[in-house]
Amino acid sequence: MNSIFKQILKKIKEYDTIVIARHVGPDPDAIASQLALKDIIEYNFPHKKVYAVGTGVSRFKFLGILDKVDESTLEHALLIITDVPRFDRVDGAYKPRYDFTIKIDHHPCDEVICDLELVDESSSSACQLITELVYKTKLKINKDIASKLYLGIVADSDRFLLSYTSGKTLELSSKLLNDYDLDLMGLYQNLYDRSINERRFEAYIINNLTITENGFGYIKITDDVIKKYEVDSSTASNMVNNLNFIRELKAWAFSSFDDKMGLYKINIRSRGLVINDVAEEYNGGGHKFASGARLKSEEEVDLLFEALDKRCKEDKENNQ
Ligand code: AMP
Repeated sequence: MNSIFKQILKKIKEYDTIVIARHVGPDPDAIASQLALKDIIEYNFPHKKVYAVGTGVSRFKFLGILDKVDESTLEHALLIITDVPRFDRVDGAYKPRYDFTIKIDHHPCDEVICDLELVDESSSSACQLITELVYKTKLKINKDIASKLYLGIVADSDRFLLSYTSGKTLELSSKLLNDYDLDLMGLYQNLYDRSINERRFEAYIINNLTITENGFGYIKITDDVIKKYEVDSSTASNMVNNLNFIRELKAWAFSSFDDKMGLYKINIRSRGLVINDVAEEYNGGGHKFASGARLKSEEEVDLLFEALDKRCKEDKENNQ
């Protein structure tokens, strides 16, 4: 058994109170990874108290319900963070409250922030890493847990389309599918169910995207439009994934205003052009080809968009 997996299992066995957190503004992989891990621990060690924390997102409720916990009452607790590289992006958990911390993540990050870290940038998703943990340690799971893990992998790899998809991704997904006889159509119903308004909103985005001569596409999604199409802002920003494989686009970005945080949320994607270093310069980060940022003003949004356009321009010039 690989030692990091063994060490994680050992720590899980050691603690009776475990909190599992993930990043703010969660996507299906973030929520599925924390809830699947909670279920796995409870399934194998029924006496343990396990809490999956953070703000819920109504459209991902089918993955399960999150817990509320007063951290000040916790004693001798273990914190596991999944799908998040830094503590300033963790939703609902404060590191100093915990005796031991573990990170399970697939984002690029050179900084070690937890006592134990399973970080693999080549992994398609946090759920893939947890699936690996299950198979390497022989932790028991059931069909419901396998379904969550499979959904996280499918969502984050965009149905095995993105570059982080590997033989290992397919192998582990196939094992989940075969070992637990998953109901794929039922799972996809939940993940991909859309209203006609949402599809119309997608058409609006395509029709209103500005594309520069350098192959950078951008759109500022306003509250008026979100209201008109009766979608929510997280739906709007998730749509950034649907613009892949457009010939004229090298990189693209959306901005929308996050009312709760009072910040502009930026979603950035590219087709093979590294963009996370640009995002990092603007209070953001993420993967090489899928990044994000949170900005205080529209001026900063414009500056980030200009920097991304410049990156596309440099790429165009280098390839001429
Ligand atoms: P999103 O567009 O929200 O799906 O985010 C794409 C990737 O960028 C995810 O891996 C996020 O964790 C990461 N990301 C988004 N916003 C930020 C931010 N403000 N700082 C660091 N990473 C971010």
